[in-house]
Amino acid sequence: MRLDKLLANSGYGSRKDVKQLIKNKLVKVNETIVKKAEMQINPETDQITCKGEIVQYEQFKYLMLYKPKGVISATVDEEHRTVIDLLDKKDQIADLFPVGRLDKDTVGLLLLTNDGKLAHNLLSPKKHVDKKYFAKVKGIVTEMDRHTFAKGVNIGDYITKPASLNILSSADISEVEVIISEGKFHQVKRMFEAVDKKVIYLKRLEMGPLVLDEKLPIGKYRELSIEELQLLK
Ligand code: URA
Repeated sequence: MRLDKLLANSGYGSRKDVKQLIKNKLVKVNETIVKKAEMQINPETDQITCKGEIVQYEQFKYLMLYKPKGVISATVDEEHRTVIDLLDKKDQIADLFPVGRLDKDTVGLLLLTNDGKLAHNLLSPKKHVDKKYFAKVKGIVTEMDRHTFAKGVNIGDYITKPASLNILSSADISEVEVIISEGKFHQVKRMFEAVDKKVIYLKRLEMGPLVLDEKLPIGKYRELSIEELQLLK
């Protein structure tokens, strides 16, 4: 891979910043000062140093974000703030993207990575990865709704796969947990609409084996632990 891409992905700034570091003779490959940003590198065998420190190259990054309201699950957008805009500058250059989408007003667990294979495995409809949500719903959620969810809900153009509905409290505003194994557009909201209720707050708690770290402040993120990564792979 190209040296400038490797350095940028390893947190040494944008490609432009990296070019400047090279121009300033601060980058060495196998003890030799580098002149060309586009130099081809083998991360397995070449030793790269920048400002005298050995560059630890990580091919992939995995971040757990506690998505807040008001940002969209995209990498770039002309109008709105994206989840990538929430990251520190050093993390904004590693080709990261969100694994799946949460609505602008949905909060909670979002995995960001540049590992396309892992993302594909988590999102593939064939893999049926469970997603668990906590929701506040306007209206009294009933046992009948629980059965409807378990059978599959007609959301207009589609009948959902069986979903589990755990009623935590049932009142004018009910609190529930829902587990779905798909990711249709606005799925949870549309499932409740189909039983004449309105979701007024939605938070993703889990995706497959990954559980939202409640110690994370809303809007913040951290790297996945080795254990979390092993569970995902
Ligand atoms: N279902 C929804 O309706 N919205 C989300 O953001 C996620 C699941």
